[in-house]
Amino acid sequence: MNLLKKFRVEPGSNVDLGSIDPAFHGHYTNDAEAAQDLQRHLARITELQRKLYADRTHSLLIVLQGIDSAGKDGTCWHVISAMDPQGVQVTGFKQPTPEEQEHDFLWRIHPHAPRRGYASIFNRSHYEDVLVVRVHKLAPKEVWKPRYDFINEWEKMLAVENKTTILKFFLYISKDEQLKRFKARLDDPAHQWKISASDYSERKKWDDYIKAFEAALSRCSTEHAPWFIIPSNHKWFRNLAVSSIIADTLDNLNLKLPKPTVDIDEIRKLYQQAKDEEDKGH
Ligand code: AMP
Ligand code: MG
Repeated sequence: MNLLKKFRVEPGSNVDLGSIDPAFHGHYTNDAEAAQDLQRHLARITELQRKLYADRTHSLLIVLQGIDSAGKDGTCWHVISAMDPQGVQVTGFKQPTPEEQEHDFLWRIHPHAPRRGYASIFNRSHYEDVLVVRVHKLAPKEVWKPRYDFINEWEKMLAVENKTTILKFFLYISKDEQLKRFKARLDDPAHQWKISASDYSERKKWDDYIKAFEAALSRCSTEHAPWFIIPSNHKWFRNLAVSSIIADTLDNLNLKLPKPTVDIDEIRKLYQQAKDEEDKGH
């Protein structure tokens, strides 16, 4: 199953989340069945990220969005587990500071875009400025409406100017599943720190969030920076889908390890000399 094609939002299409099943899990019936494929995708990511880092011509930007408890943190952890930590940076975007609020909305985002050779993961992103800002009317419509076009232009600039491959994942869970996860957090002391009262006030605005997500997914899935809608009720399927899309995309870049900058035969001679001297000494 080509998940890259299956879950990609076609640029220009109109997303209706009501027609998508957040509990979809393909032909796999459970976690154990998907485990082998997941490991295979993670191993491919490890290999390909090594090439990305060595080659230093391209970069990768992964954007994670989703409603509270959709699994942004878990996905982040999973994807990163396959990567060399030296080549990847994660940034979580929270409420803007007073200083950030006095700038344009992309000001705080841009410094975290990946440098060549690196991967960046955004746990929330510039999309908050057309999601929470729109839902809570934190800015008037005249302010947030033009942002879809600004976002598209900015992402295109990263892609063209700096060869940044951009993958944006919307982790889609159902309203029931969210409540189950809230309950699980209440019952698990290791996760209670994640609970906030705002989870419940935000939940009341579920329909407004869905509308705001549909607008962002419809208006900002582009050739340069496509959105993927990932059915995420099953965490194992979500991890499988995201990792397979990242691996396939990196594969399509045809990255090569750079040629050695030295003459390897000459270096072999130096090695042999060093070895001979070492052996003599013993
Ligand atoms: P969490 O990711 O659960 O730690 O929560 C971060 C909070 O910051 C969420 O409630 C986001 O909606 C909020 N947030 C992130 N970016 C913005 C933004 N640009 N404007 C307002 N709130 C934001
Ligand atoms: Mg939260």
